[in-house]
Amino acid sequence: MTLIRFKASQEQDADLSITYDAVVVGSGAAGGMAAHVLTSQGMKVLLLEAGKKIDINSELRSMQWPYDHPRRGEAPPGYHAIRFNEYNVRKPPYAKGSAFKHVFSYVGGWGGSDYVKNILVDEKNHPYTGTKYAWVRARLLGGKTNIWGRLALRLSDYDFKGKTHDGYGEDWPISYADIEPYYDKVDLYLGISGHKENLRQLPDSLFQRPNKLTGSEVMLRKSLATMNRTLTPYRAGVTTDGVKNKYRSKCFGRGACDRRPGGCDIHAAFDSPTGLIYPAMDTGNLTLRTNSTAHEVLVDSNTGKARGVSFVDSQNHRTYEAKAKVVIVAASTLESARLLLLSKSRQHPNGIGNSSGHVGHNFCEHVMGPGVTGLVKDMVGAPPTLDDGKPGGFYVPRFRNLEDKQPGFVRGYGFEGGSGFSLFPRHALDTPGFGGQFKKSVREHAGAFISMGGFGEVLARYENYVDLDPDVKDAWGIPVLRFHYEFSDNEKKMCEDMANAGKEMFEAAGIEVIGVDKNILTEGWSIHELGTARMGNDPKTSVLNQFQQSHDVKNLFVVDGSSHVSASCQNPTWTIMALAWRSCEHLADELKRGNL
Ligand SMILES: Cc1cc2nc3c(=O)[nH]c(=O)nc-3n(C[C@H](O)[C@H](O)[C@H](O)COP(=O)(O)OP(=O)(O)OC[C@H]3O[C@@H](n4cnc5c(N)ncnc54)[C@H](O)[C@@H]3O)c2cc1C
Ligand code: SF4
Repeated sequence: MTLIRFKASQEQDADLSITYDAVVVGSGAAGGMAAHVLTSQGMKVLLLEAGKKIDINSELRSMQWPYDHPRRGEAPPGYHAIRFNEYNVRKPPYAKGSAFKHVFSYVGGWGGSDYVKNILVDEKNHPYTGTKYAWVRARLLGGKTNIWGRLALRLSDYDFKGKTHDGYGEDWPISYADIEPYYDKVDLYLGISGHKENLRQLPDSLFQRPNKLTGSEVMLRKSLATMNRTLTPYRAGVTTDGVKNKYRSKCFGRGACDRRPGGCDIHAAFDSPTGLIYPAMDTGNLTLRTNSTAHEVLVDSNTGKARGVSFVDSQNHRTYEAKAKVVIVAASTLESARLLLLSKSRQHPNGIGNSSGHVGHNFCEHVMGPGVTGLVKDMVGAPPTLDDGKPGGFYVPRFRNLEDKQPGFVRGYGFEGGSGFSLFPRHALDTPGFGGQFKKSVREHAGAFISMGGFGEVLARYENYVDLDPDVKDAWGIPVLRFHYEFSDNEKKMCEDMANAGKEMFEAAGIEVIGVDKNILTEGWSIHELGTARMGNDPKTSVLNQFQQSHDVKNLFVVDGSSHVSASCQNPTWTIMALAWRSCEHLADELKRGNL
């Protein structure tokens, strides 16, 4: 056995000879929250994370200017980020046969691959197969929360009770009233910035100071109000007033988290290590083992209950076992489904928790691509202001299929947008001319652009699923996922409406529309994959109950986005954490009562 030592508030070794109260697989938003809640209840928890622990601040170099980097942020030769056309023209595994030494998802091409080359997985080691899919994975302590976009939204009963509202799919086994107290706890513990709007479709959080809107955004907000639509400052999972946490600072409004794929070196933006895991370690109840890839939930051959987890050390490739009274899977939606499917035994021949046959199915996410760009004439020539010195722009919540009924599609979409001066005036690349006149034109127009892009609900459908590829394995010999997933007509019609509605809103506000994008981005682009082990009241058609507890195995919980019954159109991370908090409180109670 190798003992991993780590640098945090205190040093601990993972003793694999003992039986922990709980073993948690994965250290992102879901696993971090499980670790926080369970350790605060006094439980002894082992957290297994497949990735490494890196010095994240020196990796992100949040305040580095492009000209301070020898390659303007690009990774050294030999690194490649997959492009939009590659995703669509080729089929996965995308890195197969690539001449590049390292291949990353498209996020690696976002304003500097050098900053994420140790954060995103190298697709050469982590292949997947099947239908086209842009799968973005971050394997390190904290997972994708190290670079997430920070938009932190609640779901409403339009989402939890979607079937009741429009007849499609399934209702969730909870309603907004069940989860509201846990959203509140997440807000207070982690901090969220935003502005109250009193909307039924997007409940307010317990907000800290909001970001200021730019002049263009205020203009659009006023115009949208006359259409009964709302533009609200970006609801950022960022503490603007500060929280009681010695690992985090309040936001200084440096906008650095928007320069590249996320990341905040003073941790004002939530990330799982500083927000959840280090404080959990301070309780003395958490043991962390990184470089530990779980590949099977082990079962007791007499009872069929979970007895622990088998994992491979990512560095020495040896296999170990961790023993626990309760197993909590939180490896992210797709990896969690993979782990359940990999865990076959006499009692669970289709994979653990899969007597319904629904593990891997009802896979959903958000569809994106359509958007609009405009020019606000009054802002041309305006003196520069620090518009990007904040952790986000604005959000336009869903307005379709609330009171109205659209003829072409069910459910809805919201828009994420931004405007004003940015670090690099991107429009310079499209501005004609040269010399002094060119520079003058670029400067004059730099603060006058506004744009927004839609995020729409992809319907949960049984036909969209992942399973294990019988032939292909990853670099550690573990079978990989095979995708069977594509957008339906509902998503395509919704996207047509997104582009038209975006244009209509800009025109109504007097903004000159200079570009309308109608193209749909590849499946997976939203990085909001959900629903592969859904909750429900009926064990025949769902995998988990309302506490994310397996219907089949009562000491097995799956606390990430795989449990979501539908995708809604709101970004999922705040809901993932609120649900995990609720389930882990229930778990701790049940364990104390001897019910697990
Ligand atoms: C660029 C970007 C922008 C985003 N923007 C937003 C946003 O604005 N708003 C929003 O709500 N969401 C956003 N997201 C999505 C958000 O990051 C995820 O919803 C969130 O991180 C999900 O948490 P998770 O714990 O389920 O998964 P992750 O954060 O991915 O964590 C899972 C962890 O499990 C580990 N793991 C995987 N398999 C195993 C295994 N077999 N054994 C052990 N460990 C394993 C992984 O290494 C990882 O550390 C964004 C993501 C990215 C990448
Ligand atoms: S704007 Fe705030 S959240 Fe973003 S990097 Fe700066 S301090 Fe961090």
